[in-house]
Amino acid sequence: MEIAEILSKESLDAKEIACLLKAAGSEKELLYEKAAQVKEMHVQNKVYLRGLIELSNQCKKNCFYCGIRKDNKLIKRYNLSDEEVLNAAYFAVEKHYGSIVLQSGELEGEGFTKRIENLLRKIRELSDGKLRVTLSCGEQSWKTYRRWFESGASRYLLRIETSNADLYQRIHPDDQHHRFETRVRCLEDLRSAGYQVGTGVMIGLPFQTFEDLTNDILFMKRIDIDMVGMGPYLEHQQTPLYEFRDLLMTKEDRFQLSLNMIAVLRLVMKDINIASTTALQAIDPTGREKALMVGANVIMPNITPEQYHEVYKLYENKPCSGERAEDCHSCLETRIARTGNEIAYGEWGDSLHFGKKDKEKKAEV
Ligand code: SF4
Repeated sequence: MEIAEILSKESLDAKEIACLLKAAGSEKELLYEKAAQVKEMHVQNKVYLRGLIELSNQCKKNCFYCGIRKDNKLIKRYNLSDEEVLNAAYFAVEKHYGSIVLQSGELEGEGFTKRIENLLRKIRELSDGKLRVTLSCGEQSWKTYRRWFESGASRYLLRIETSNADLYQRIHPDDQHHRFETRVRCLEDLRSAGYQVGTGVMIGLPFQTFEDLTNDILFMKRIDIDMVGMGPYLEHQQTPLYEFRDLLMTKEDRFQLSLNMIAVLRLVMKDINIASTTALQAIDPTGREKALMVGANVIMPNITPEQYHEVYKLYENKPCSGERAEDCHSCLETRIARTGNEIAYGEWGDSLHFGKKDKEKKAEV
């Protein structure tokens, strides 16, 4: 089937998605053009900023692809103080970001649960309720998710990494801490706990096929996700998956495929929020801008104190490492202006997709 014919359809099946993911040359340009139109029509050319606070690089897990995995003894571990977190949150308030993301390695236990609860309450207080908070703190129990929701978090990001259960097991240790079923169950729990739910995948993993990526898009549609953060897989020398680096496609190809994934996802899920991830910029200096032009509408400037950037590295060559939040802010403003998008200062930028579902649910009651 011709690409133009596929692009004229309202909904896409697996075969059509796979065809679009492979688009190159002039066909790719058609795909990007269509994705940009759909974005403008459904979520407008606005970019929402989420100030990213990397709370801690301590993690109890050992994902084979991650630079801060528990068994990596070569990095220095840190934990931001509450004061550092709150100062960063205040920076976001002053800059009218509308939202922040609190992200950390996966930790568990009452101490950690309480700490996040307290931070959420203090953030609500200091921002006078003006900041939306997204959490990205891994797999937790429903009860913990609910406690955090009630303390002020309204969005949660938990990447599935791949929707292929076999591939998932291949890139994680085979133990009870790393089960695909648990990850899926957590996504369901987040939904029932009340959150706007986000997920994402790595693109260009060793052993991954086009069929896997097609199924990733269908998985996101099936679980009716509200937000997505996905980007190219980037290898890290201090991880077990590095052993398979010879199987990888070039970084440029992983980058192109990531843009195609973003564009196709925008066609499939027209009103969700899609992040333009930093990993894109690690390959192409203007990678995040390019993603904004093909469907993405969220950017997460790093507002973690700069001295910790070097040791929160899930992958190597993380861009803007060591840059002060203030510098990062001005740089982003210039970059975003070049894309013809406008920064939605002072707006929460909630997922429109979630808003519609929520309205329908309330109407039913
Ligand atoms: S990917 Fe997340 S859970 Fe896995 S080791 Fe890294 S920080 Fe921990």
